[in-house]
Amino acid sequence: MKFDVIKKDSNARAGLLETNRGAIHTPAFMPVGTVGTVKAMSPDELKEIGAEIVLCNTYHLYLRPGHEIVESLGGIHKFMNWDRPILTDSGGFQVFSLSALRKIEEDGVHFKSHLDGSMHFIGPKEAMEIQSSLGSDIAMVLDDCTPYPSSYEYAMNSLFRTIKWAEQCKALQREGQALFGIVQGSLYEALRKKSIEELVDIGFDGYAAGGLSVGEPKEEMHRLIYFTAPLLPSEKPRYLMGIGELGDVLKAVEAGFDMFDCVMPSRNARNGTLFTSRGKISIKREEFKSDRGPLDPDCDCYTCRNYSRGYLRHIFLSKEILSMRLNTIHNLFFYLNFFRNMRKSILESRFSEFKTQWQAIYS
Ligand SMILES: [Zn+2]
Repeated sequence: MKFDVIKKDSNARAGLLETNRGAIHTPAFMPVGTVGTVKAMSPDELKEIGAEIVLCNTYHLYLRPGHEIVESLGGIHKFMNWDRPILTDSGGFQVFSLSALRKIEEDGVHFKSHLDGSMHFIGPKEAMEIQSSLGSDIAMVLDDCTPYPSSYEYAMNSLFRTIKWAEQCKALQREGQALFGIVQGSLYEALRKKSIEELVDIGFDGYAAGGLSVGEPKEEMHRLIYFTAPLLPSEKPRYLMGIGELGDVLKAVEAGFDMFDCVMPSRNARNGTLFTSRGKISIKREEFKSDRGPLDPDCDCYTCRNYSRGYLRHIFLSKEILSMRLNTIHNLFFYLNFFRNMRKSILESRFSEFKTQWQAIYS
């Protein structure tokens, strides 16, 4: 894997991440394909709207169908018929957020499956084995996602665990698979800084900031975003995990982050909330009943080129499968296009105008 920052506009970066399965233009948005599918989208449709990489969740694939099954069916790319890059998370965050019961120990985490209540254990070794079986292009270290709020002492112990696990993951890195470290440290700047120093000493192909957007006030999240990004190695990709509200993305790109993932555009699409160049709209609203115009007059996606708001409202209220598909096509296209235009603004040294313009709509 090779990464180059092509242009900097203040701290915002336009970069190119090259993998054996294709290039990723950064800042990049990664649609989330939780269980090995970006809900409601075929891989061909994802390519058509310009997705260059997708994220799959280790926790989900480990529980069902099981990583051995995925491996026996040719690995995650063949399994889901997606030949472009795939990033897998390590399962740490899902254990933290989904599992009803979890017990963190020094060597890993015991947890109860949210599917059937069965007990499981994932440590650094298991996290690396699972991701190796899946065969993703970018793997993530297992981290202990520190909850909010946490005392300094708790956050510090949690952070040391994450660093120890990161070291163990690094020792098990598979050839041909990139591995990213994950910065923790809760809301404490000293711990975030310590976390980065330790991870850089170990040495990773990229660095992610985790443990944000876990319930802390937005101002605190923004403070940590601006604090963390400039401390991360400038020659490596910087990934802000799980944060995808456009107002937050603009700040994070301004701070110097390169990669993002979020379920919001696809999840909102299925709930009828759609992103447009004039703000978010709820397609079920009465006012769209006889609206012959496109969802977003400035959007060039398949949905906007072919369907009226009146029709999209009708099939949403009728709970038609096509509604989820058309809405997802639009929302993901809107996001990917937003990222493409944001990158262009960096290349043309006008990111700050781009940010001001969009922050008026998505603060
Ligand atoms: Zn559209």
